[in-house]
Amino acid sequence: MIARSEPIWQSDDWQIVLKNSIRTLGDLCEAANIQIDELPIALQAEKSFRVMVPAPYLSRIEKGNPTDPLLLQVLPSAKEMLDVPGFVNDPLEEEQFTKVPGLIHKYHGRVLLISHAACAVHCRYCFRRHFPYSENALTQDQLIKVCEYIQADQSIHEVILSGGDPLMNKDEQLAKLISAIEAIPHVETLRVHTRLPIVIPERVTNGLLDLFKGTRLKVVMVIHANHANELDQAVATALYRLAEVSVRLLNQSVYLKGVNASLQGQLSLLRRLHHLDVQPYYLHLLDKTKGAAHYLVADELALEVYSQIQANLPGYLVPTLVREKPHELNKRRLDSR
Ligand SMILES: *Cc1c(COP(=O)(O)O)cnc(C)c1O
Ligand code: SF4
Repeated sequence: MIARSEPIWQSDDWQIVLKNSIRTLGDLCEAANIQIDELPIALQAEKSFRVMVPAPYLSRIEKGNPTDPLLLQVLPSAKEMLDVPGFVNDPLEEEQFTKVPGLIHKYHGRVLLISHAACAVHCRYCFRRHFPYSENALTQDQLIKVCEYIQADQSIHEVILSGGDPLMNKDEQLAKLISAIEAIPHVETLRVHTRLPIVIPERVTNGLLDLFKGTRLKVVMVIHANHANELDQAVATALYRLAEVSVRLLNQSVYLKGVNASLQGQLSLLRRLHHLDVQPYYLHLLDKTKGAAHYLVADELALEVYSQIQANLPGYLVPTLVREKPHELNKRRLDSR
């Protein structure tokens, strides 16, 4: 069980941690005690999507190990500069589903808000790396238009806060956002897709917990862990505090070569999530984002490992294997053979 002797995280602790994050390839190599191949090309990759690694995440990387699974998620590589056919800047063609600025309405019953453009960690495989986001939160004007859109469509029962990372908003900004959303009667659920409780557990402030405790909305949080090593004791504490205020915790991960593509890697992640009372939700096959081809696992291998996951774990610990297709009305489920 998780210890109840919890640190009390002050409201601005996380912002200091964020500010002190590692932001260059040179600093990352030094902190991880590694050297990388083809440095001049890797430096070009760094220019196209800058490095961002907060200290709590860094502390879980094994020093001196250039193949550490957490390091490989954030380390710029010369391989990103290869032009691989089929890997494009906007694989999901999301732009066409943007109904008003900041709101993507693609699937029935739920809308996704780009509630903050920035992230607390830069994951090299992410399709959002090419988005023309500024570093800003949703403006007051945009929020009004977003709410008018939701208000006018009675079929929308769930608002998904995404980004970037929605928990990059300060608690006061989130308070405004949540009260605007909960004022719309047909919205029942608030879903938060975030990597922050993992990369900076201090983000789970008392203020944030009060917001979740105080809303009439059902709160679902989808965290994003790809490897068991991401889920250390500080993360366990953050998740425990969220669960205490009735936030339902789910996890999604991306199937990534070098990070979590082995059966053992998957089993240890899923067992660790179970231990922390987090329900596995989706296992995504990689979106074909330009610069991310070196993370791709062939479909046959992915399906092979997936069927072994199914053979090894109870059904409730098996995530749904999905691939996102630009024009489909839901994420495409893939079955094992
Ligand atoms: C993934 C996604 C959702 C949520 O889909 P679920 O299957 O409900 O998790 C909603 N909108 C967009 C644009 C998405 O990409
Ligand atoms: S959107 Fe998520 S996966 Fe992509 S860079 Fe941000 S935190 Fe990483």
